[in-house]
Amino acid sequence: MKITIFGTGYVGLVTGACLADVGHHVLCMDVDQGKIDKLKNGHIPIYEPGLESIVKHTVEAGRLAFTTDTQEAVAHGSLQFIAVGTPPDEDGSADLQYVTAVARSIGQYMDDYKVVVDKSTVPVGTGDRVKAAVRSELDKRGLELEFDVVSNPEFLKEGAAINDFMKPDRIIVGTDSERARELLHEVYYPFNRSHDRMIFMDIRSAELTKYAANSMLATKISFMNEIANLAERLGADIENVRRGIGSDPRIGYHFIYPGCGYGGSCFPKDVQALTRTARDCGYDSRLLNAVEAVNNAQKHVLFDKISHYFNGNLKGKVVAIWGLAFKPNTDDMREASSRALMQDLWKAGASVQAFDPEAMEETQRIFGDQTGLTLCGTKEQALKGADVLAICTEWKEFRSPDFEAIAANLKEPVVFDGRNLYEPEMLERHGMIYYAIGRGRNQ
Ligand code: NAD
Repeated sequence: MKITIFGTGYVGLVTGACLADVGHHVLCMDVDQGKIDKLKNGHIPIYEPGLESIVKHTVEAGRLAFTTDTQEAVAHGSLQFIAVGTPPDEDGSADLQYVTAVARSIGQYMDDYKVVVDKSTVPVGTGDRVKAAVRSELDKRGLELEFDVVSNPEFLKEGAAINDFMKPDRIIVGTDSERARELLHEVYYPFNRSHDRMIFMDIRSAELTKYAANSMLATKISFMNEIANLAERLGADIENVRRGIGSDPRIGYHFIYPGCGYGGSCFPKDVQALTRTARDCGYDSRLLNAVEAVNNAQKHVLFDKISHYFNGNLKGKVVAIWGLAFKPNTDDMREASSRALMQDLWKAGASVQAFDPEAMEETQRIFGDQTGLTLCGTKEQALKGADVLAICTEWKEFRSPDFEAIAANLKEPVVFDGRNLYEPEMLERHGMIYYAIGRGRNQ
């Protein structure tokens, strides 16, 4: 099938590459000339495990191509996927300007039946706005072409995006058109063979499903962080509590890890956007407000512990930070907890020596001019001459470090662990002082 994807970010590029991999002919369009130039030259602008090789071989096979030309993009696919960003507006609602710009372009250039598939995360009712934007452009041209709008939210996780796309838990398709339903069934057939993963529903329910999923996951994290903060005050260990509750199949072990807050491009903005949607329809979502408030506070917990350790005097202190990305296996730093920690430290007069296995370029791009930041080539270099160590991301390479070397390189053998990577006894045996999240003793 011939498919166009608008947007070559984490979602658009993975979608395009995976659809091309199973045999579809895909043209990816982006307004960012730099990104398209890189892609045409064989460079992948983001870090996502496994993506590079799929892009390479599908381009070589002639099934994946890139363009900045809107007219060419609209002409290519009978299916037009929208995978552009929906960043938070000033009031927390999703900014739909990029989505509606694509919809208008489709209306401006289409000359036969198209299915417009919205993959971006968009508030309930956006399907109607997309329909209206396409229709109004067709009206301007005096055309009465048929088209359908489908909501097909994406559930991939950065860092595991290829696997998630290739073996999805579910494929949600919101549509009121039998014709569009059949086409979507055909697009996704290769990912849906062993058992039926497609769930068809109306457009509004599909749009809300995406927000409900992310808000539920964010709620689990904030709930665990709330209990962790309690555990600290009560002398209990949240890691024991986690194992204890996870063994109940109604709760399960997934997504109940306490830490220094969730970040990324999705949870913070999607919880905010759903809260805003609720307010717009006259409903005060008390639970979602609390989820966001707990998370915002949790991003400062590591700083509070460091500040407490130094009796509030951080002037001139050097903190080594391991992990800058909002989670492992990505270079994405949007809303990362490391950003809150670094900003708190700089404000208090401390400086930072930071290392991340993949997010160094991104950190340089965001904080390149910041005084008080040294970017280090290895995790060992980050320790040299630092007073203490703080951990913000649970990269595999941080899980079993040389504790003796950590103690030897730091001025004080103290670790502030925002991801509960270690057993407190283990660090004590190595003569270190260990502060983690919600681990009773010693906090
Ligand atoms: P991104 O910011 O990485 O990429 C968006 C891309 O769209 C950019 O390259 C931008 O240049 C391009 N763009 C903007 N306007 C355009 C236009 N008019 N035509 C063509 N391209 C245009 O965003 P992302 O992380 O891929 O997210 C895209 C959407 O998918 C968002 O709504 C997001 O909430 C949702 N989503 C993201 C994830 C994730 O893990 N990143 C997962 C599921 C859903």
